[in-house]
Amino acid sequence: ALTLVWLRDDLRIADNPALHAAAGRGDVVVCYVLDEVSEGIRPLGGASRWWLHNSLSSLRSAFEDQGIPLVLRSGPAADVIPRLIEESGADAVFWNRRYVLAERNVDAALKGFLSDEGYQVHSFQANLLFEPWEVTTGSGSPYKVFTPFWRACRNRPAPREPLDGPTVLRGPNVDSEDLDEWRLLPDTFDWAGGLRQTWTPGELTAQALLDRFVTGTVDGYADARQLPDVEGTSRLSPHLRFGEISPFQVWHSARAASTSATASDLAIFTQELGWREFCWQLLYHQPRLATENYRRQFDAFPWQQPDSDELDAWQYGRTGFPLIDAGMRQLWHTGWMHNRVRMAVGSFLVKNMMVDWRVGEQWFWDTLVDADPANNAANWQWVAGSGADAAPYFRIFNPVTQSKKFDPDGRYLRRWIPELRSAHKVHEPWTDLPAGYPPPLLDLKVSRERALNAYQDLRQD
Ligand code: FAD
Repeated sequence: ALTLVWLRDDLRIADNPALHAAAGRGDVVVCYVLDEVSEGIRPLGGASRWWLHNSLSSLRSAFEDQGIPLVLRSGPAADVIPRLIEESGADAVFWNRRYVLAERNVDAALKGFLSDEGYQVHSFQANLLFEPWEVTTGSGSPYKVFTPFWRACRNRPAPREPLDGPTVLRGPNVDSEDLDEWRLLPDTFDWAGGLRQTWTPGELTAQALLDRFVTGTVDGYADARQLPDVEGTSRLSPHLRFGEISPFQVWHSARAASTSATASDLAIFTQELGWREFCWQLLYHQPRLATENYRRQFDAFPWQQPDSDELDAWQYGRTGFPLIDAGMRQLWHTGWMHNRVRMAVGSFLVKNMMVDWRVGEQWFWDTLVDADPANNAANWQWVAGSGADAAPYFRIFNPVTQSKKFDPDGRYLRRWIPELRSAHKVHEPWTDLPAGYPPPLLDLKVSRERALNAYQDLRQD
């Protein structure tokens, strides 16, 4: 028997149910399809393309070590997969499930077509701990609020143990396209220096990060995760996004490492994994979450059209508000931003500048290495107040108060904003503006009032 394994957001060998089952059947051909053309597929952003290139390159070496190639093909999956079956002589196709509507449509159509043609087609649960259709309220509808959702998840049987990676893989040689020709890396201007300094995509690094986290960093996570200057979180998000590590591996490592000293930290960490599950089940049940206000009344919100200078100031960290600028510069340089600062920059864009959350979501989509269809949209809607379980409209993060509280010595601010390195009033530099640092883009108090009034009007509608 020869099985074609189609990898997508599961770029790993260990705990990969589709690969595991295929290896158990006999020979395998493993492929990755760069499909940017099937209907409704959202093209990856720049930082994600950089990550994908490096992740595929690492995975290809790992498969070569096992004696088989990673076959790369581009084009619509509906054409590429049947062609690969024909070329290789496979009699079955296995893949791990994905949950974005456009991708589900591609998969369902292929499954129907190939089954009719007499091929075995199997899909597996690999990337979510709980399938979105498994966890529903008593009346069978999806949860809209996190706490009861996560309680219901925890009341279910514990997630299965991770599977070992197959030790021996055999299969025929099938032609592959050249990864470099996909041009996933920056083309004209090399903006990826900071990404290279910060990250090593690939399964081995993901596993090492997880080990380091559960045996070390997790101690004190409950508090340290709030501090942007401290490496207090796992930094697993891009690895989870591309499936270099599975949530099952993360969950079970966390469980196994739990001691009486770290149990409460680990419970909070596991709850963050729960937020990932929650965002995905929201998107699964309500695909328009990605592009439309989850709460319809927000369709009437009077978003302001920013002029390009204002938008540039936010994107490139030149608003004159240190926490916002530090966060946006960290994002631009490393492709990642601390969660607390993501909330602050989001609130600043959506509430103080009154710019549509989709503008911010798109910028994050392009610049984050962990840009994720569910987590990004759901969190932006959370910040905007338009989401399912959202921040209340009157919660407007004050960037000055936030940095005083979570970065009291201004270390995070100084690290990302060289102009402020020797500033005395690093949280509020405008009374003694250092050379090269811009004055505030707006008045916090006035813009806050404006947003509150707009939200108030919406509630009365
Ligand atoms: P840890 O604290 O170590 O958490 C472990 C894992 O839990 C993360 O890797 C992630 O998979 C998950 N997680 C943690 N927080 C959240 C959350 N709020 N929602 C969903 N999952 C969570 N996360 C993304 O993975 N992709 C995105 O595109 C994304 N966009 C965001 C946009 C905004 C406006 C905001 C406020 C948050 C966004 N997040 C996103 C959530 C969060 O900021 C990141 O998951 C987190 O900072 C990643 O760092 P970590 O892996 O060290 O997190």
